[in-house]
Amino acid sequence: MIREAVITREHIHLRATAEKGGFFDRLGEIYGEMDRVYDEVASLYGFSCTGCVDNCCQTRFYHHTAIEYAYLVLCFTGLPRDLRTECMDRALAYNLEMKRVHAENGSFFRMCPLNENGLCLLYSSRPMICRLHGIPHELAPPGRAKTYGAGCGAFDAHCGKGVYHPFDRTPFYTAMADLERRFKEAAGISGKVRMTVAEMLASVSEHTP
Ligand code: SF4
Repeated sequence: MIREAVITREHIHLRATAEKGGFFDRLGEIYGEMDRVYDEVASLYGFSCTGCVDNCCQTRFYHHTAIEYAYLVLCFTGLPRDLRTECMDRALAYNLEMKRVHAENGSFFRMCPLNENGLCLLYSSRPMICRLHGIPHELAPPGRAKTYGAGCGAFDAHCGKGVYHPFDRTPFYTAMADLERRFKEAAGISGKVRMTVAEMLASVSEHTP
């Protein structure tokens, strides 16, 4: 069965708004800065993510920005058609399985539909949390106490629990929140976004005979 990507009016509106306002350009800048700082800190540990058994792409990440949703959909529709079809099949299966597991209050682990043979098909366009995951970090939201987060299983296995090299996610979250606020304002949308990559892909999926 062929599965065709269908761009809805919502997708078109979000894309047009982002392009007109330069919001995708700003997102690219923020992503670039995240990668630069992440690589810098990871290198202090001698840690590099090359894929592992405990692949974080099997973690059910939720993404919370409309700008990242719009960007991922844009990049996804640029993939070759056969790859898109495979991804959309996997996305629909992912969503069904997630629904079933949630109904049973079980733990959900399943490979992200964008992951093909251990590699992300949209690696350079992957969302923020995919970029920041892996090394220990800190977060200092305004008016709230600083919190610390652990590294992933592969990090612990390779680097142990030794000295902490500061990796502050706060400036990235702040920049993303500002971008998201301005983007939503320009697009005339409100409400919170909470989507997995599978749900984003499913939003452009449709059966055709
Ligand atoms: S978007 Fe890419 S990096 Fe993120 S979970 Fe999916 S495959 Fe992994």
